[in-house]
Amino acid sequence: MSDSTVRFGLLCSMFQAMGRDRSAAKKRKRFRTFLDRVYTDRDYFTAVRLILPFLDRERGSYGLKESALAAALVDALAISKDSDDALRLINWRKGGARTGANAGNFALVAADILQRRQGLASGGLTIREVNDALDQLSLKEGRGEKAAVLSDLIKKTNAVEMKWILMIILKDLKLGISEKSIFHEFHPDAEDLFNVTCDLKLVCEKLKDSGQRHKRQDIEVGRAVRPQLAMRISDATTAWRKFHGKQVVAECKFDGDRIQIHKNGKEIHFFSRNFLDHAEYLHGMSDVILHNVLVDRCILDGEMLVWDTSSNRFAEFGSNQEIAKAAMQGLQGDRQLCYVAFDILYAGDTSVIHQSLTERQELLQKVVKPSKGHLEVLLPDNGLNDHRPVDESCWSIIANCVEDVEKFFKETIEKRDEGIVLKDLGSKWEPGDRSGKWLKLKPDYVHAAADLDVLIIGGYFGSGRHGGEVAQFLVGLAERSDSTSFPKRFISFCRVGSGLSDEDLDILITRLKPYFRKNEYPKRLPHFYEVTNNSKERPDVWVESPDKSVILSITSDIRTIKSEVFAAPYSLRFPRIQRVRYDKPWNECLDVESFRALVLSSNGN
Ligand code: ATP
Repeated sequence: MSDSTVRFGLLCSMFQAMGRDRSAAKKRKRFRTFLDRVYTDRDYFTAVRLILPFLDRERGSYGLKESALAAALVDALAISKDSDDALRLINWRKGGARTGANAGNFALVAADILQRRQGLASGGLTIREVNDALDQLSLKEGRGEKAAVLSDLIKKTNAVEMKWILMIILKDLKLGISEKSIFHEFHPDAEDLFNVTCDLKLVCEKLKDSGQRHKRQDIEVGRAVRPQLAMRISDATTAWRKFHGKQVVAECKFDGDRIQIHKNGKEIHFFSRNFLDHAEYLHGMSDVILHNVLVDRCILDGEMLVWDTSSNRFAEFGSNQEIAKAAMQGLQGDRQLCYVAFDILYAGDTSVIHQSLTERQELLQKVVKPSKGHLEVLLPDNGLNDHRPVDESCWSIIANCVEDVEKFFKETIEKRDEGIVLKDLGSKWEPGDRSGKWLKLKPDYVHAAADLDVLIIGGYFGSGRHGGEVAQFLVGLAERSDSTSFPKRFISFCRVGSGLSDEDLDILITRLKPYFRKNEYPKRLPHFYEVTNNSKERPDVWVESPDKSVILSITSDIRTIKSEVFAAPYSLRFPRIQRVRYDKPWNECLDVESFRALVLSSNGN
């Protein structure tokens, strides 16, 4: 069949069957059969982009996450916002009689509603027509226009087809088969080619013949490359053992956005990990790149951060976009974008990813002239570097023994950085690799901050496996009036979900369930809780009263972050539940003052 005649229904049948297949091998075979039987003209891209929607960069973003999609579907179906179906869509995460067993899976909740409204018969849309409609959806701006495209699709599909369209829009098909398996089944060289081009269309067009091998392609300026990644490691000794006999560099792990800078004459691209081009960085960064990158064509690998000139340190993670926008508007303040280049992948007319890291670092030093607080270069302090980093501290060392790694790690943590990355200096840079040439060591995995005993004050419904049940908690710190009486108020502190086994979570939920009260904020905010006005962090249920609740021992990354979201002055990064303290009475919850003292002492004040 040719690309223009293949029915979308055929693809949906394959998806449905894959959902039933138990083994990955069966799913792979089904994919192969689909390609061979259906696509006789081998014009695969239109289908493959629907199977791997999260890798497709031909189409812009839909701007539709579940909640926006729910609102657009309510409009598309022309139903009242207060109707049962609308409420089920809007409250897709929550369980109960209305949402049923599908809670937590938006597409299934929607399909259930659509089933009663759409006929069973397929509308006969072709894959090409579905792609055209999805193009329209991404191009339309307002909710009304998007709803019109969805409404048209609903008319031309049945509920099963529409369910898959929604999953494609949400870019998660939940097929139980990895991207790697799909690529390998498609063509033995597909993954490699995708990693160096990040271009699904090109992969589908170049590798039509699965029997014919493709000459390994190198990276090119202007085309995003899948980044080399780091493997997690639990402690310095294990890391050292893994790198046995190799020359190792230990670098500070910066907490910003991984960005590849591609410079081609005056043309500059800033590709993120998801190979999106962040043009918003152009205003704040292009001058310094043009002046301080001394070759015409090159690719740099590094981290985009925000440098705060008043505090002389990098700003906390999360302000890149805001500062990039301020630069676009010509606004100047204490904060500016700062790129830390830690690798070079291409210079002049040559890819250098096959050279060793030592050689690449030498090249990086020649090619990039640092500019304090704007463009920094990460080179080992005891090796090549004669440039002092902007914060005057040491960002990178050559480690000669495990003690060097431990010392550097400790210093990094004391500075409250995210952790360290260890790299084999003899290794080449490999697109998409996470096999252990780079190892990351973060405090979270090594030893956590002191256990903090906090009280559960609310719960959030989970999604997926935990759909319809509370799966995360809002925990609070006590506000103590004097040391003799019980606390009367609890201040929201952070949201925590991970750390408990399914079984322990079940036991905890069973215990708390009788005391969960639906959140009808602000009318019914219990007077003993204090939260901010940030609606995002308001829980789905409250615990009726503190004395009915349970204490959790939580740990976290040693770093605390200043909280704007929660009512307590600080919150935690990467909190994790250590255990449930059924043995500890609710009134022995950690109080705000003690926590503040703990933060100050760990900051060395
Ligand atoms: P994490 O959430 O721990 O950042 P990740 O999955 O985003 O992990 P990993 O590949 O596991 O990414 O860890 C490496 C990431 O650390 C890089 O993507 C980069 O953004 C960041 N990073 C910060 N400093 C460095 C550095 N010196 N060398 C390499 N990566 C660094």
